[in-house]
Amino acid sequence: MKTFISFTEARDIVLDHLPGPREDAIALDMALGKTLGQPIVAAENIPPFDNSAMDGFAVRAQDVPAPGICLPLAGEISAGCSDTHPLAPGACVRIMTGAPLPEGADAVLPVEVAEPHPAENSIIFLKAAIPGDHVRPAGQDMPRGRTVLEAGNVLGPADIAVLASLGQVQVPIARMPAVSIVTTGNELIEPSESLRHGKIRNANGPTLAAQIATAGGQLYGRFHAPDTREDVRSALEAACKGDMLVISGGVSVGDYDFVKDVLEDMGLSMLFWRVRQRPGKPLVFGLLGDIPVFGLPGNPVSSAVCFEAYVRPALASMLGRKNMLPRLEPAMLGKDIPKKRGLHHFVPGQARWVDRTLTVVPAGPQGSHIVSSLALADGLIHLPEALDGAPAGMSVSFERLR
Ligand code: AMP
Ligand code: MG
Repeated sequence: MKTFISFTEARDIVLDHLPGPREDAIALDMALGKTLGQPIVAAENIPPFDNSAMDGFAVRAQDVPAPGICLPLAGEISAGCSDTHPLAPGACVRIMTGAPLPEGADAVLPVEVAEPHPAENSIIFLKAAIPGDHVRPAGQDMPRGRTVLEAGNVLGPADIAVLASLGQVQVPIARMPAVSIVTTGNELIEPSESLRHGKIRNANGPTLAAQIATAGGQLYGRFHAPDTREDVRSALEAACKGDMLVISGGVSVGDYDFVKDVLEDMGLSMLFWRVRQRPGKPLVFGLLGDIPVFGLPGNPVSSAVCFEAYVRPALASMLGRKNMLPRLEPAMLGKDIPKKRGLHHFVPGQARWVDRTLTVVPAGPQGSHIVSSLALADGLIHLPEALDGAPAGMSVSFERLR
């Protein structure tokens, strides 16, 4: 078991000890935000047939070699039309955007360059036709056999458009890991209860549930344990049946911090305890069988920051997502921040563009118990452990949380 390791070493250990993605499938209507479990290969040409890109007239290009040609009008094809009359040589047919090109036609002349003949049922073209003009060939968007979406993509609206076009009504996705939450503490009451002296409301339970939902996980169950060995043990035993266990509180060195001991009694293979970071130093990580177990420190900002730094990337990895790690943006520090050498600081911060520079400042008063500042923050300012101060004007990395 390692202890007092760096943030990056701790995160690497976590990412090295996770099960891989598992297969699932979901209806197309429910697929938004899910992670694709298999590459999607076009089974059909899209578009499925040559069709018109404009409202105009379908012709054989060789029949309109120069401006001023007049061709008899042989009919009309609207979008959705299923007849298959070929275009007679030397004639034209009125055609709408998206309508199938008749056999024999190889170009469309838009209405803007066509005039009806004043007397006959024919059309005068003001431009020459070029083969292929304003024609959308079959398979131009997705030719049959092409891989159009990669496994590991988080499905957004454009991916839904691709899946719908291909008729992929059952979408292969990575199964959403089922995560249990165990909160600990004699001081905690539920948010619905009235405060009494000495009690605070359980903020981390609902917060972790929200973080899990936005990270692609699903809740296996939420449990709470008062600070006795027996209560902690029965909550952890009930909770350790999903794909991941996230515990809040009780991992520090207080007299009532039983979580580590109980986990070890239950057979946890502990991989590390305590990370050189602020907030969140007492973080524990290990495996119960093959279930990854995170013991997060109970202060709400510590719990939320540790979730972002370790649990969110872990869920992304278990989903097979391509980008597991948060994107860090370069930014300039707008205010001095007191900093202790030897700890990686995560500072809830606000980001503003000032003279074309992304400028970040701490969001409100800072402290691992000050939830309201986290709610004001756009993200986390990262201050690496080697720094022994963080003066205004310094270049830093910023991780957006919203
Ligand atoms: P612990 O990690 O159990 O020592 O808790 C550290 C601090 O976080 C204490 O002040 C606790 O009251 C507080 N705390 C622990 N769990 C929660 C929770 N679920 N919601 C809000 N505060 C908590
Ligand atoms: Mg506690």
